[in-house]
Amino acid sequence: MTTAHDLAAHLGPALDTRPDALHDVTEDFGHLVRAVPRAVLRPRSVADIQRLLEYAGPRGIPVSVRGGGHSMYGQGQADGGIVVDLRGMGPVGPVTDSQVVAAAGVLWRDVLAATLPHGLTPPVLTDYLGASVGGVLSAGGLGGAGHRHGLVADQVLELEVVTGAGEHRFCSPDRDPELFHTVLAGLGQCAVIVSATLRLVPAPARVRRYCLSYTDLTRFLADQRMLAEEGRFAHLEGQARPADDSRPYLIEAVAPHTGQLPPDDALMLTGLAHDPTAVETTDLSYAEFAHRVDTDEEVLTETGEWLHPHPWLNLLLPHDRAEPLVRAVLADPAFSDLRETGLVLLYPLLSARLRAPLFQRPPGDVLYLFALLRTAPPGSPETAAAMVAANRKVYELARSQGAVAYPVNALPMSDTDWRDHYGSRWQALADAKRRHDPYLVLTRGHGLRF
Ligand SMILES: Cc1cc2nc3c(=O)[nH]c(=O)nc-3n(C[C@H](O)[C@H](O)[C@H](O)COP(=O)(O)OP(=O)(O)OC[C@H]3O[C@@H](n4cnc5c(N)ncnc54)[C@H](O)[C@@H]3O)c2cc1C
Repeated sequence: MTTAHDLAAHLGPALDTRPDALHDVTEDFGHLVRAVPRAVLRPRSVADIQRLLEYAGPRGIPVSVRGGGHSMYGQGQADGGIVVDLRGMGPVGPVTDSQVVAAAGVLWRDVLAATLPHGLTPPVLTDYLGASVGGVLSAGGLGGAGHRHGLVADQVLELEVVTGAGEHRFCSPDRDPELFHTVLAGLGQCAVIVSATLRLVPAPARVRRYCLSYTDLTRFLADQRMLAEEGRFAHLEGQARPADDSRPYLIEAVAPHTGQLPPDDALMLTGLAHDPTAVETTDLSYAEFAHRVDTDEEVLTETGEWLHPHPWLNLLLPHDRAEPLVRAVLADPAFSDLRETGLVLLYPLLSARLRAPLFQRPPGDVLYLFALLRTAPPGSPETAAAMVAANRKVYELARSQGAVAYPVNALPMSDTDWRDHYGSRWQALADAKRRHDPYLVLTRGHGLRF
């Protein structure tokens, strides 16, 4: 039996076992799963993480990393184990040669704050910048520039990691590629990401955002597909808005410009089937656009909803089944609350651009992110549980039509689900897990069992 005293003796002052410290990491953004660890480690060096894993592995103590804490269903928790809080470790920078080294616990908003003064940005950003570098890279990272550039994880040039076996390693597409491709979009199974070298591209001074309304799902999806394949816009997302009976679909398309030379609106919107009487056009600085979800966070924090349970579900739909699946889910009474509250994202990606091998996607050239982002009332665990059960039902329906989960969800997944999710890659992942995390202690919160 390992005592708190043993642990403290081995890991020193970086280890925190105070009840307040444990309480702070028992829940995540989802507020659906509670798990109390025995300690929180705030590493001051890579050696602290190595010492932890050398200690925890042979003793079978679960270890998880917490970055921004925005998991939905306990993915970053370590029940009875040790949570590594990476937030205090390491800065961003310096920016050199159109790249930057970011410590994994840093939030994307801090990455952008370091790169924008150099006129540079990561090519793909997620909508929300409050997640950590490590958290997004371990999921993959989807954003509106994905149809052009792929995943956030596809922009990584090199990783610094500590494997589950406690080895400190550097890897890239040329140096130890097996480890590199096992860590990116690898759900934290094989290693703790310590830092990442990120590719940067010139940031536009300003952007013009077009919000295009659609009455018809078939035309909406056809236009999204065309725009993704053409790459006409730098950023392409969309929403279904079940509460809007007259124009229930919206494309958000964004074009960069210099300020002096704004885009030609007629040219940008040519050939599209949106309602021309309802086009909304907004000019923003690039930074304002990148931080657009900050305002939602502020408003929802004020109303309290930011801290309510979030039974979110993100699915990747194959192009040829997207329309019936979207119709079926939006007509399902279990999702009728989306008429009053919440958000439904629906936007296209091109499979060939998504390069991280462990990022699972449906068959076909074009796929759609279909994200059902709902909030459950506080103090009603039965309602939250019913919403998670509804997620499960939709997942099963979508999977039967070739869809896959983007695994950042409030969705319990069984061993069979995970094997099905990884398909022919399952065995390679299981082999990598045994090689790099031989005691199987890392990131158990996703529920993968090897
Ligand atoms: C408001 C909001 C908006 C979002 N928008 C998007 C979006 O547009 N696109 C998108 O792709 N996702 C989006 N997400 C999902 C989000 O990117 C993922 O949930 C991400 O994993 C959260 O990272 P985190 O650091 O905040 O979370 P954590 O809960 O801290 O970590 C998430 C997972 O990553 C693991 N992990 C964290 N750091 C490391 C590390 N250094 N090494 C290894 N494993 C690590 C954790 O153990 C855990 O399993 C959004 C989430 C929220 C709450």
